[in-house]
Amino acid sequence: MPQLARRMGQAKPSAIMVIAEKTRALKAQGRDIISFSIGVPNFLPGEHVYAAARAALEKDSGQYGSNRGADALLDAVLAHFERNGIAGLTRRNLCVGIGAKQVLYNLAEALLDPGDTIAFPTPFWTTYADIAAIVGAKTLLLPCPPEQDYKLTPAQLDAALAQKPKVFLFNNPSNPTGMVYHREEVVALAAVMARHPDTWIVLDDIYNRMVFDGVGYHNVLGFEPSLRERTVVVDSLSKTYGMPGWRVGFAAAPESVAQALVTLNSNHITSLPEVVSAAAAAALSGPQDVPEAQCAGFARKRDVVLDALARIPGVRCPRPEGAFYAFPDISVAFGRTHGPSGRLIGNDVELCEALLESAGVACVPGSAFGEPRALRISYACPDAALAEGLARIQKFFAEFE
Ligand code: PMP
Repeated sequence: MPQLARRMGQAKPSAIMVIAEKTRALKAQGRDIISFSIGVPNFLPGEHVYAAARAALEKDSGQYGSNRGADALLDAVLAHFERNGIAGLTRRNLCVGIGAKQVLYNLAEALLDPGDTIAFPTPFWTTYADIAAIVGAKTLLLPCPPEQDYKLTPAQLDAALAQKPKVFLFNNPSNPTGMVYHREEVVALAAVMARHPDTWIVLDDIYNRMVFDGVGYHNVLGFEPSLRERTVVVDSLSKTYGMPGWRVGFAAAPESVAQALVTLNSNHITSLPEVVSAAAAAALSGPQDVPEAQCAGFARKRDVVLDALARIPGVRCPRPEGAFYAFPDISVAFGRTHGPSGRLIGNDVELCEALLESAGVACVPGSAFGEPRALRISYACPDAALAEGLARIQKFFAEFE
């Protein structure tokens, strides 16, 4: 019997998807489940995006496209980076992909040999660890517990980069915590990065348009231009524009890295579809009222979530300032019994299972993100479902012995 490749022994399906599947199965049985588990933005793009897609369909060439990305899309991406303070790029610095996920996967292939180290802060988006495992890279995890608001300190970064990892991966705003690094924090981290020239810097900034409270989005390149020659910025349309299913991500990188991504695309995917590329260009360069309104809506929902969590004794939630996630520390419940069944809750996974089965609320255990004291609430759902789900969580916590 032939065997799967050894690398598949390392690969596992995303823990977030496992919860989502279980939720779907319970729903299919007729259970009333409120899902706070999956990170989808829950709105659709503006009409101009569909108009661009329809127009592209009308004159569809039916052909393969550019491995780097359609020119019109690349130009829209250049303008987008310039609005975000990253000017002076050309098309040769860019490459698109099937979502930021594929761009990140390509980057792992482009930058990491087996046995190389990739460093990133914990909590982290689950896929980082999974991609590292598939390409045979070692991970250097930098623990950022709730006591430090899940944020990396310059001293931690300095100690990590002193070990010369091949890649440092930095996600801001953060999935799963919703944390956003303030201007002075980014300045301090940028100064540390500049002192360690042997490491590639990969910035996963896909939530950059979802920042609240006037904090603003800040990027190390704005403060240390010398980082340009070894920094890759990854972005995506999925969350900002309500287009996760359109699968458009992109990166700005030094030319050699962008070219490596183009080469990988030429072997993996060839190109994005023409219609998708036209819709993506329209989303980036057209009216921005949908993402702006959604960002304001998420800020309001964040307040609702924090208010509900603050009413649960012992549960602490560092205040998210972006994206649409909250990541409360729920470890107060561990070692206690729940409800009439007297079920003992030992850890985050058991808590999420009990919450799903007895209260009908799906959340992702924090251990999926490397922080087993927490769970992730994705609050990008309609107001009524959010209120109901939060009420159920409050009731669930009130039922501990
Ligand atoms: N990075 C982060 C931090 C994410 O949360 C996600 C999606 N959950 C991605 C990358 C991938 O996004 P996509 O592939 O849809 O562009």
